[in-house]
Amino acid sequence: MLALGDILAAARTIDGIASDTPLVPSMLSNRLGGALWLKLETCQPMGAFKLRGAVHAVANLPHGTAGVICCSTGNHGRALAFAAAARKLRAVVCMSQLVPHNKVEGIRALGAEVHIHGRSQDDAQTGATRLSHTDDLVDIPPFDDPHVIAGQGTIALEMLAAHPDLDTLLIPLSGGGLAAGMAVAARAIRPDIRLIGISMERGAAMAASIDAGRPVQVEEHPSLADSLGGGIGLGNRYSFALCRDLLDDVVRVTEAEIYAAMQALYHKDRMVAEGASVVAIAALMAGKIAPSPQMGTVLTGRNVDMAQFTRVITGQDVTLGGHTIKGQDKGLTYG
Ligand SMILES: *Cc1c(COP(=O)(O)O)cnc(C)c1O
Repeated sequence: MLALGDILAAARTIDGIASDTPLVPSMLSNRLGGALWLKLETCQPMGAFKLRGAVHAVANLPHGTAGVICCSTGNHGRALAFAAAARKLRAVVCMSQLVPHNKVEGIRALGAEVHIHGRSQDDAQTGATRLSHTDDLVDIPPFDDPHVIAGQGTIALEMLAAHPDLDTLLIPLSGGGLAAGMAVAARAIRPDIRLIGISMERGAAMAASIDAGRPVQVEEHPSLADSLGGGIGLGNRYSFALCRDLLDDVVRVTEAEIYAAMQALYHKDRMVAEGASVVAIAALMAGKIAPSPQMGTVLTGRNVDMAQFTRVITGQDVTLGGHTIKGQDKGLTYG
């Protein structure tokens, strides 16, 4: 349903808008049992890889499209706002009343309209669906869309072009747009490459769906890897089948393991990244993935809550929805 040619087409449309980000060796490599290369999507203009899929989807809109709409409070909303502005298109992002003010302002600052609907993500989606009809706007979903998936897949093209010896890709996994796109590209270029998706322990909808053999719903829990939250959609059309068929394995990490990995990346590589970005490092540090000589992962985004991030890197407790992650300060041991 999606092939290397689709990813190559995406690479041409995003050229010059989404950056070809650096691929750098992690200073943690020694203690992880193999070289780990970091693809720095934290350096994208709006701070996350989602720009790739959004730019490609916007470039492929039917001629005469009035504008685009989505309901996302996170990186997809920001990316769509950015991509639409680059094409001088109207963009509407629907959110619930529960979304913090700074996120609303962040998306407005990119020139998008923010519409507040109800008190939940479901209410916001209902509002988005209604507005898409009344205002003739195209709804661009965050992961279950062929153009979005192809756009995210360009990350694997760039990684394998920069470093053809990569034998393993460790891919943060939520709705699976990133993993599906990267897997299509990587399998076509290097059929024997090892592809592993990584999610957080609690609320991993794609992992649970692959186990069940069909899309299932899971309960959502607050997580340090907040960008990995949310379902995959019971009517999932693309990302589920691609992840199920192309990934070799899916691994889950605990909040304490994510905490330790954020601290390690900061102190050893001096990098600021979201919890979702470090799940591969967390899995390697916890011994949940067997290391190989040339591994690569994606630092997917840098749009982290800085108050929470400061607590993590200074070894303080972090409380998420009534659940406390006990602080531990290993920072100085990384030197
Ligand atoms: C969206 C996102 C992910 C997960 O991508 P999926 O395509 O939903 O699997 C990981 N990290 C960050 C920072 C994200 O914004």
